This record gives sequence, structure tokens and C-alpha cells, in this order.
Amino acid sequence: MSSRTLYTLTATLDYALHHLSVEEQVAYTNRTGVPLQELVLIVEANRYPGTFNLKHLEVNGTAPPSAYTLEANQMRLPLANPLSPGEVLNLSLTYDLNLPSPTPSPLTRPVPFGTTPRQTNLVDWYPYVPPYDSVKGWLAHAPGYFGEHQVYESADFVVNLRITGAPAQAGASSSQTPSLTIAASAVPQIDGEWYRYRFENARNFAWSASHDYLLTTRTVGDVAIYSYAFPIHAAAGKASLETTANALALYNELFAPYPRQSLSVVEADFLDGMEYDGLYFLSNGFYNLYSGKPADYLVSIAAHETAHQWFYALVGNDQAEEPWLDEALCTYSERLYYERFAPEALDWWWAYRIRYYDPRGWIDGSIYSYTYTGEAYRAYRDAVYLNGALFLEELRTQLGDQAFFSFLQDYVTRSAYSLASGDTFFAVLQEHTQADLTALLDKYFANR
Ligand SMILES: [Zn+2]
Repeated sequence: MSSRTLYTLTATLDYALHHLSVEEQVAYTNRTGVPLQELVLIVEANRYPGTFNLKHLEVNGTAPPSAYTLEANQMRLPLANPLSPGEVLNLSLTYDLNLPSPTPSPLTRPVPFGTTPRQTNLVDWYPYVPPYDSVKGWLAHAPGYFGEHQVYESADFVVNLRITGAPAQAGASSSQTPSLTIAASAVPQIDGEWYRYRFENARNFAWSASHDYLLTTRTVGDVAIYSYAFPIHAAAGKASLETTANALALYNELFAPYPRQSLSVVEADFLDGMEYDGLYFLSNGFYNLYSGKPADYLVSIAAHETAHQWFYALVGNDQAEEPWLDEALCTYSERLYYERFAPEALDWWWAYRIRYYDPRGWIDGSIYSYTYTGEAYRAYRDAVYLNGALFLEELRTQLGDQAFFSFLQDYVTRSAYSLASGDTFFAVLQEHTQADLTALLDKYFANR
């Protein structure tokens, strides 16, 4: 039996009332090598006022021995007896989520969580145990103004979903399946009214429901690609499907085989692209503006978000402390996409995605290290994403294609399902080149 954390989640969504009720079991094995005095759970839903309502909590079948704390996005649970290495702790939680309707604001970072008139998006919707680092302790970070702050261990998920309160389908009898479409990180087994999923060795489980999705599909080898778009954006939905499929085939070849059965791209009423394991969201803004050409942000960002399946999902990293590790690689993957599938648009990509912003700044800052001004998001993005891509381009030039791509493959293969760091990146890199990288590192890194 795997010693990975097992999450068993049984949830009923009342679509009309924007309400989710959840029963969650967590089987956590202490693999940290040290006795644990407390367990930390990340509760992202608790960041939204009035959203997370904990009804019941048990530890190993009884009420928790002493008071837990739940503040912002973290629950701290003191343990009566320390949990020894190798020992298993069983948690049982019952809670409701009153789903928020986030309104876009320049003061808060967009997250595709909650409900809009045409969809409900469930991301980071269950409490989970973050990784534990022997030096730093729990990798439980506060949200930043921009960038992602969560760190995920690979875990196993058994998820059972059911929806009530679906809008009635015209002419449908009440015994028919509600006219809702569910997009999720994995492929379900349908069992009456239940959608049952098993998702193993994964960072998280995200899903989305809508009465208004147009679904298109394609396969790449054994992998099913699903594109969920709103019907007014059928052409852009097809483009996000094709881009995702092509990008997946390319990254399969360049990085490592994609290990999942499916990948879903979901058009979302929020302002950005956002990756989860097996599924990503793409802003309706990109669909609205889609030009029909490859030289288009819908295409760049779809190629970017697809690359997160390798740099974020397969190879995890501390997104708060070292965001460049996944973001620079995913931005550079856009360049690899254009190079292969639309070389005529590569000049556009360099000019409008990268050089237009005159990127600058150390690429190895944390998400908290780029200070807030009106241009704060730009400072962060320009350094981590854009300058990060320029670093990788120069690294590739210095190494040559053969060494560069064998390095990337090696980095992905050796870090798969675990957490990589900048140290991992450079340790693997050293094995693939004799080149003196001092000048390059001095140019892009504050601390290398
Ligand atoms: Zn990204």
C-alpha cells in the first residue's frame, strides 16, 4: 500500500444554491523522518469570508484532544501524542462551502474559485496537508499579492461527486441526468447520480460544473484532451483544444511522457490562466479576443498552461519561494511550441510576449520579494516569467540543443512526483555541461 496521503472526498454540489457539502477523510503517513507535534492543513477556502464552515472534525476516530486553530488559510492541529515516523493519522472532516462570487479587483489576485452566472469552479476546495521540510518545517505559505503560494505533495485522491439543483433541461423528464457538464482533473466512472474518480500520485484535484459548456475532444496517444468553452466561443474553444493537444504531444517528446489519462482546458470567468493537476483554466478574456491566428495570447497561454503539467504537476516546486522554477520553464515552453508548430509566429512571440516589456529583474525572488506599486505585477512577471525565458534561451545557446534538452529530460525524470528546487535544477545541469555559467548566472540570479 502506498504511504502517500490518501484523500477520500465525497461532495454534493447544489448548483442553484452555490453550496457544496463535503465529507473528507485524510489518511496521512508521517514520512518526514521526525516525530510531529502538530499537523498543519491548508484551508484555502477559509480565505473567503463566510465560505468555509467546519461542522465536524475527528482525529483517529475521536474529537481532537485540544483546540485547533484556523486562521486565514491554515489550520493547526496539536496532537495529543507525537506522530512517530511511519505512523498513520486518520482525519475525518465534515464541512460546507458557501461558494463566493469573486468580482475582479485590482487589489486581489484572481483565482478561479467560486461561482459565476455560468459556471462553478472548485479549486483547492478541500483541506490538505502541505509538504514538511526537515529544515523549514511545514511548507505552508501565506498568499502573496501576486504569484501562487501553495506547495503540494503528490497524493492519492478518491473523489465522489454529485450535483443537485441543476437547471432543468428543456423537455427533459425529471429522471434524466441533469443538464450539467462536469470538467475534472480525471476521468469519472459514472455510477447512477455519482461521478467517481480515482487520481493517483497527483498534486490536487480540481473540477468545474456548468450548464453552458461546449465540449470538444481529441486524443493524443492514450490521452484524452477535453476543451470546455462557452458556446459563443466555439472557435476559440477549438483552438485551445488543438493547442493543448499539440503542446502535450511536443512536451511528451521533449520532457517526459504525460502520465495521466486526460487533460482538460476550461474557459473560466476570471482574469488569467491557472494550472491544476490534469486540468487548467483559461480566462474568457483570451477567448473573447481570439484572432484565429497562432500569434495570439490564447495560443501562448494554452501552451504555457499545458507545460505546467510537467513543471508544477509532475515536477513540483515551492511556488512561493522559487516561482521561477515552474514559471520560467513554462514561459519558455511557449517558445518551444511556436518553434515547432508556428515558426512564422515566433517573431511575434519574442516581440509582443517578451521584449515589448523590456524584462528585467532577478529571476530568483520569492513571490513576496517584488514590492507593490501600481506596476507590481509587472515587476514580478517581467522578472520571473519573461527574464526567466530569456535566461533559458541564453542557457540553451550556451549548452547547445542536445545538452539543453537532455538536461531538461533528466531534470524532469529525476524530479518526477517530488519537489525540485533551484539547487536540484543546477545540480542536474552541472552533469550536462562543462560550460562556465558564471556570467550567465550573475546576469539573471541574485543568489547563485
Ligand atoms: Zn504559469
